[in-house]
Amino acid sequence: MPEKFLYKQHYDLTTARAVQRAIAAGAAPVDSRTLADLSGRRHSGQTVRAHLVSICALLLLFVAALAGCGAETSPPAEKPAAQSEEAAVSPAAESAPSGEPAPAEPAKAAPQKPAAQPEDLNESAVKTLPARVTGVVDGDTVHVRLESGKDEKVRFIGVDTPESTREVEPYGKETAAHTKKRLEGKTVYLELDASERDKYGRLLAYVWLSPPEDGGEAEVRAKMFNAKLLLAGFAQVMTVPPNVKYADLFVQFQREARENGRGLWGAAPQEPEAKGAFVGSVRSNKYHYPDCRWAGRISPANEIWFNSAADARAQGYEPCGVCRPPG
Ligand SMILES: [Zn+2]
Repeated sequence: MPEKFLYKQHYDLTTARAVQRAIAAGAAPVDSRTLADLSGRRHSGQTVRAHLVSICALLLLFVAALAGCGAETSPPAEKPAAQSEEAAVSPAAESAPSGEPAPAEPAKAAPQKPAAQPEDLNESAVKTLPARVTGVVDGDTVHVRLESGKDEKVRFIGVDTPESTREVEPYGKETAAHTKKRLEGKTVYLELDASERDKYGRLLAYVWLSPPEDGGEAEVRAKMFNAKLLLAGFAQVMTVPPNVKYADLFVQFQREARENGRGLWGAAPQEPEAKGAFVGSVRSNKYHYPDCRWAGRISPANEIWFNSAADARAQGYEPCGVCRPPG
C-alpha cells in the first residue's frame, strides 16, 4: 500500500483526535462577543479603524444609491474584507479541518499581530512574565510559580502533544518526559496572547526559555518552547482563535517536522512489510492469500512466497480450495 496514504490517514486521525481533545480540554468555541471584548481591549486602535471603514462604506453605498447604481457597487465594497478574513483564518483551517467553530462575526475576529500596535513600538516588542516551572503535567501543560508568588497551571498556546495521562497515545510518554527534562525547575518567560485563560482557568502562554527581544522567526525557533515542540515533532499545531500571534510560523514548523519524519511524524503506523502476494509451504503444494487460516498454520521456516499466481503455478503449486486465490 502507498505509504503516503497510510501516513495521511494517521495524520487526519490524530489531528481530529487532537481537536476533539482540545475542545474537551477547554478550547471552547470563541463566541463573537467575547472575541470583540478581547480584541477591543487589546487592539482598540483596530476596532476603531474597523468602525471607520464601516462608516465610510455606508457613506459610499448611500452616495451610490443616490446615483442609481447601488446594486452594482455594494458587492465590491464588501468583498475585500471577506478575502482578507479568509487569509487570516487559514492556519486554523489547516490544523483543524473539522469541528473547529468559526467565529460568527469574522470582521472582528481577525486580530492582527500585536507587535504592529503603536503602543508596543517604544518598548520591547514582546512582553513576558518570569515564572519558575514547579511541575510538569504532560507535554503541553505545566505548573509554575510567578514572581508574585502565585501558582498557575499553564497550557502552552498553539500546540497539542500526544496524550500521556488518561490514555496513552503513540509518542505521548516521550513528549511528557521531554517537557519534564527541559522545563522542570527552570525559569521561563511567559508571553500571553489575546485570550489569557481557557474555560478551566488555565493560563494560556507562549513559553520562552530566555527573554525574547524582537519575537522574530529566528528567535522563536531558538528560544520558544512551544515552537521547539513542533520543530522536533513532539507536538501538532492546534490553533484556537483569538490566540493566533504565531499561528503561521507554527504551521510552517509542523510542516518541517512532518517532512523530515521527526518525532511523532516518524511513529506513524507502518503496514507490515509484504513479502509477496501469496504464500505456500515447502511441505505442501498449495498456495494461499496471506490471511487464509491455512496460511496462518505454516511455520515461518517453511514459508515460500510468490509475487503472483503465475509465479506459484510455475513452481508447481495449486490454489488453495479455502481462500481460493486466482489460478
Ligand atoms: Zn488458503
